[in-house]
Amino acid sequence: MNFSSKLLEDAVGEFAKLPGVGQKTALRLVLHLLNKEQEEVEHFGNAIVRLRKEIKHCTICHNISDHNICEICSASKREKEIICVVEDTRDVMAVENTGQYFGVYHVLGGLISPMDGIGPSDLFIDSLVQRVATTPVKEIILALSATMEGDTTIFYLYKRLKDFQIPVTTIARGIAFGGELEYADEITLGRSIVTRVPYETAMR
Ligand SMILES: [Zn+2]
Repeated sequence: MNFSSKLLEDAVGEFAKLPGVGQKTALRLVLHLLNKEQEEVEHFGNAIVRLRKEIKHCTICHNISDHNICEICSASKREKEIICVVEDTRDVMAVENTGQYFGVYHVLGGLISPMDGIGPSDLFIDSLVQRVATTPVKEIILALSATMEGDTTIFYLYKRLKDFQIPVTTIARGIAFGGELEYADEITLGRSIVTRVPYETAMR
């Protein structure tokens, strides 16, 4: 692309680094912003800069938060003894949207994926084990994607957790619920959390 301005080229270049955004889309977005009031564009830029600078991760569950302890972990009405283990923040949002879950979470920050060089030590697995060892927990729900990486991670977590003698359950993952957790519709996901089953049963 031949740009008439270096400033334009730089801005388009930054947008084009985003996932799913090609040069053409990037140019369209940048030109759109150029037509906005300066104040509006400043809000846009500030939101991104502040996001990166000020965002925190909950020290208990590792969810993205504005505070050191997230709103879910600090809410008195949540059941702290039930932990739902998920891959990332998008999954926390998906489960929250069902309105069917009242426990707390543990965000792994990814899934075990030997192909991508992601092993257990790259994820918040030790901190989950630590949490289970040091706080009262009466159930651990493994709500991970029905993919090979999800299955690998569930199997690994089960091995690490089984000695605690705490029920480990998985959400129902039938045909209606294949693939990524965040894409499951709310009703299906909500139902699969309510009808979760012990991990051993799910394996048979
Ligand atoms: Zn938290």
